[in-house]
Amino acid sequence: MNSFNPPKRILMGPGPSNVNPRVREAMAKPTIGHLDPEFIKLMDEIKGLLKYAFQTKNEVTFAVSGPGSVGMETCLVNLIEPGSKVLVCINGVFGGRMKSIVERCGADPIVINISWGKAIDPQLFEHTLKKNTGISVCAFVHAETSTGAKSDIKTLTEIAHRNNTLVIADTVTSLGGIPLMIDDWNIDISYSGSQKCLSCPPGLSPITFNERAIESIKKRKTPVQSWFMDLNLVLSYWGGNTKRAYHHTAPINSLYALHESLLILKEEGIENSWKRHQANGEKLVQELEKIELKPIVKENERLPQLTSVSLPEGIDEAKVRSTLLNEFNIEVGAGLGELAGKVWRIGLMGYSSNEKNISACVNALKNILGK
Ligand SMILES: *Cc1c(COP(=O)(O)O)cnc(C)c1O
Repeated sequence: MNSFNPPKRILMGPGPSNVNPRVREAMAKPTIGHLDPEFIKLMDEIKGLLKYAFQTKNEVTFAVSGPGSVGMETCLVNLIEPGSKVLVCINGVFGGRMKSIVERCGADPIVINISWGKAIDPQLFEHTLKKNTGISVCAFVHAETSTGAKSDIKTLTEIAHRNNTLVIADTVTSLGGIPLMIDDWNIDISYSGSQKCLSCPPGLSPITFNERAIESIKKRKTPVQSWFMDLNLVLSYWGGNTKRAYHHTAPINSLYALHESLLILKEEGIENSWKRHQANGEKLVQELEKIELKPIVKENERLPQLTSVSLPEGIDEAKVRSTLLNEFNIEVGAGLGELAGKVWRIGLMGYSSNEKNISACVNALKNILGK
């Protein structure tokens, strides 16, 4: 057996995106101890950089060890107790996953189902909140990567607060890619992921909790069901000014990578990153329309970093995707759930969001489809 040499791919699927060489170099640096004072300094810098990325002053802002799904579960298990009522909005795969976690916590999910490819309807959201008493938390996805739809989480949060509930926003695909202002929009809790618009390897989930969320956790009557994700325990390691104590061994080299990717975001400027994603997303749609591939999400709800396009008549979509991968080294995503076999999902996230990738992908598709 030989050492593994991955092929050179252009990653234009729903994540992971291509990793900036600077981030790969950072990751390859020597491992030090996870309680080394130099490492603690790095963790503090990461917290500061994450506050910038999330546009927040929340003290409880750090990276959970684990992919976006662990961030999702961390937010939910800390906020809800057996018997809690949680409003979950489902307009794609990830809302459905939140519902499963709520059920496994012994809580009671109240579900709003929205057609896949559409944003969450604020009126329906408000109506459901008013019709059901005792909801303590609302959970929704900002950028639904399974469909390419963007929801107006600023408005949803205003509605939730008018009805005295906290909000958990999934910002796995939105962080760094489209405007997201945790403090200005008053979002109580949010989790993200490292491998989408931050262009880092997968395995870390940035999260942020505001004061109101922390107050609510302090008032719990039952312990958090997960030992690993219990915020009170994790914060003994990641927490503010107190001495850091062992909780689990942090993925040290992954945190080097996250630090570098956040530094790159800061150097570019977050507004510039949002603009670049928007411009490239629009350009991709224009180019795809020239070869008769139409986006399924309407323009004002469309994510620039993930475009779902409907498939041409009579093609073997899996075969086109494998030709793209094997002959052109380009990865795009297949449809999931309701959209399986109906769309391709083309990502332009982080380091992968550039004009060169747009032409490479569109030219390859032209070639394969014989346009
Ligand atoms: C990718 C993704 C997740 C899950 O993240 P993993 O790192 O795959 O666990 C959750 N929500 C959304 C919107 C995502 O795009």
